[in-house]
Order: sequence, then C-alpha cells, then structure tokens
Amino acid sequence: MRMVDLIQKKRDGLKLTEEEIHFIISGYVKEEIPDYQMSAFMMAICFQGLDKEETAILTKEMMHSGDVIDLSGIEGIKVDKHSTGGVGDKTSLVLGPIVAACGAPVAKMSGRGLGHTGGTLDKMESIPGLNIYVDQDDFISQVNEVGLAIIGQTGSLVPADKKMYALRDVTATVSCIPLIASSIMSKKLAAGSDAILLDVKYGDGAFMKTIEDAKLLARTMIEIGKSLGRDTRATISNMSQPLGKAIGNSLEVKEAIETLKGNGPEDLLELCLLAGSHMLVQAKKADNIVTARQMLEKTIEDGSALEKLKAMIKAQGGDETYITYPEKFEKAKEVIEVKSVQTGYIKDLHALSLGLVSMKLGGGREKTDDVIDHSVGLILNKKISDYVEKGETLVYVHTNHGLSEELKKQIIEAYTIQQDKVNKPILIDDVLS
Ligand code: URA
Repeated sequence: MRMVDLIQKKRDGLKLTEEEIHFIISGYVKEEIPDYQMSAFMMAICFQGLDKEETAILTKEMMHSGDVIDLSGIEGIKVDKHSTGGVGDKTSLVLGPIVAACGAPVAKMSGRGLGHTGGTLDKMESIPGLNIYVDQDDFISQVNEVGLAIIGQTGSLVPADKKMYALRDVTATVSCIPLIASSIMSKKLAAGSDAILLDVKYGDGAFMKTIEDAKLLARTMIEIGKSLGRDTRATISNMSQPLGKAIGNSLEVKEAIETLKGNGPEDLLELCLLAGSHMLVQAKKADNIVTARQMLEKTIEDGSALEKLKAMIKAQGGDETYITYPEKFEKAKEVIEVKSVQTGYIKDLHALSLGLVSMKLGGGREKTDDVIDHSVGLILNKKISDYVEKGETLVYVHTNHGLSEELKKQIIEAYTIQQDKVNKPILIDDVLS
C-alpha cells in the first residue's frame, strides 16, 4: 500500500477501507508517513468528508494508537462528560459532585486551558495542595472510595491525535467535522468510560459558530460512540455569552462552590441539572430525567454535593477548608470597575473577547508553557437582556497589574447595547441521543 494512492483515493471522493485507514494512522504514529502526506490527506478529508463507517474506523484506529484506560476496577456504570469548551465553563466542578452524590461514579480526565477557553485542571489548581497528577491505580481507588476524581491525563492517550492536532493547527484543517469528532471521541473512548455525555456548544465563544454545525458535530460523535458500544448523548448549548458570571480560575471555582451551596447563577445551574439528569439516566441511577433532576436538586439542598467536592479535594491532597471558607482563596491586588458608556438593554456579549481579556490579565495561556495567575479574571455584572444605565458597572476586573486602556476598551466593546428590550437567550437548544 502507498500513502500517495490513498491520498488520491480520498481526493477523488472514494471510500477508504478499514485496512487502508489502519495503514495511515499506524504509519503516521510510527513516523513512516511524513507530515506533508498526512496534511494532504487531512485536507482531502476537509473537502470530500468521511462517511459514518470511515469516521468510526478512523476514531477506533486513533483510540488504539496509545494506551486505553481500563476502568473495570470501578464498580457501576461510569459516565464521562465532555464539553467542547467555552468561556466561563466550570460545569465539571458542579456536575462531577452532584452526579457523584447521587451514587454514579465519576472518573474524569480533564485538560488545561489554551487561548480564550479555560481548563478544569487550571481552575482546580487554585486550591492549594491539590494534585491533579494521580496514577491509574490511585485514580481507580479514589473513585471507588469517594465516588469522584478529576485528574490530568495518565499514560499516553491517543498519540495519533497529538500529532494530527498539531498538524491541523498549522494547515487550516481544524474546522472539519469528521476530524473534530474523531479527535474528541478517540480521547473520550480511550479514557475508558461506559457512557458519554457531550455538551456541544455553539456561538461566538465556541468552536462551532452555528447551531446547525453543533448538531452535525453532535450527531457524528453520537454515531461514533454507538458504533463502539457506548451510550452517547449530547446537549446542544448556546455559548453566545459566557456561562455564569465568573471568568478566571479561582473566581470560577468560587462560583462553582456557590452553585453547590444553592446560590449559583441560573444558566450554570440549569445546564448542570440538565446534563446531570441525562448522566444519571445513562448510569442507570434514575429511570427518567424528571426523577434524576429531583435527585440532583436534593444533593444541593442537603449539602451532599458540596461534601462530595470536599472529599475529592481532600483525597487529592488539597486544602478542603477553601470550600467551606472560599474567602481564603488568594485575591488579586485590585478590583477595577468598568462602567457602561451607554444606557439600554444588553443585546450581545462577546464571549470570545472577554475570554481573551481574562487570558491577557494572566488568567490563561497564550503558549502551552505560560504560567497562570489563578487570582485574576472578570466578574460580569451585566449579561444579555439586562438593563444598564450609563455609568453603571458592566464588569469587575480582578487584576494584579492594573487595567490598560486597550483592555478596558475591549471589555466595553464586548457589549452591544440597544434601546429596545431584549429576551434572555435560549441556553439549551436540544438534547440528542
Ligand atoms: N477539541 C479536540 O479535542 N479536538 C478537536 O479537533 C477540536 C476540539
């Protein structure tokens, strides 16, 4: 078999066989196929697509390119959750505890943030002492004992994706649905859960800009999951504005804690309850999503979800008193108010811009080796549909290095204000299974 013939076959819109896809992925990981041929092949996929069968085979080959985690040592049905990423997305820190408090084991491997989107691991590390590098045996023991663990990736999961993603980044082949779907699903499947709940976001702050593309991506991933025997479902949610009010590491952890205490923002709570209800049904802890939602609400009312978060933090070496006393989190030197220059209703709130402001304050990384400042970020005082008077505060900026005129302008320009009333945007459009 020759790679050049397979590139040509895909370029001409023909279907590849399992043997051919195996040849490509294993050859690429072994460095027998060079980057320039892989680039041409992925560009051919961008133009010609892959059918369901080819996408499932590609995902399976990528999944088996490295370690596959065996979670069979954990009792019960393990449900993993994956969000396609956004600004202010701290759902894992709320969802993990509420679902685990209902008896469904949560064994989650999370990632770090890059660019305008935050990462759960960076947020967790704002708790002193907390260790996210847990080996596989301890990870399994912790889930069996506590019911919940959120850690960094162990082993060498999906090396094919690592190489392919780096190449896609520099060859304009990132935004291609079969490539995104196989990239995400190969990692989820290698992480070993029995069922997967995907939160596919669309809008300004998300990877998918339109609801149609988000649904297409979700359906593609559901098909892949099902073809490999995993119950896979997806919520389709709107990321046209940040989720909740907090953007930035410790600020988001504090908002997650407040949500577990019953004082969280409505949109964050709603998304967690909806996604969590499906996870409980997938884990066979509830017969239907109505019962599941009641079970989840109870974990917030009776404090068991908060206790679950504390237990996880303690098990991973973190100081759990920060959960009881969130005022202990290190504070930024200053809080600067950015005020509205107009009166009216908020029509749009540019999530991507605000994510970038938080990153520039030091809360995120431009490059993978940048060091994060956990204390900085933004608290939004106004969101879409709110009324604001000229001179009223739009955003509280938590900063250790003041606020440049450029960043202040970026915050003001992130808001579009109009005279007519605006309806609250729909948060969750659909649930697909
Ligand atoms: N996230 C991933 O893991 N892969 C993609 O291709 C896009 C988003």
